[in-house]
Amino acid sequence: MDQDKTPQPEPQGAPAQDAGITVCSVCGATAEGTPVTWTCSVEHGVRRYLCEACARANIRAIEGKLDTDWW
Ligand SMILES: [Zn+2]
Repeated sequence: MDQDKTPQPEPQGAPAQDAGITVCSVCGATAEGTPVTWTCSVEHGVRRYLCEACARANIRAIEGKLDTDWW
């Protein structure tokens, strides 16, 4: 029996988050893993990450637990 030589590539549609990349929800900056300088907040059941710069800029809003809709 001859076998087809058709390659069967593995699906590579995994989200970037699963690759150990953290994306800033504000400016879109990326970093490997989850830097300790980044801030993680959960809003509406969605986990958001803020890079160091954005976290500093929005630290008051985060502490006030305001929605990020106005950002
Ligand atoms: Zn940012």
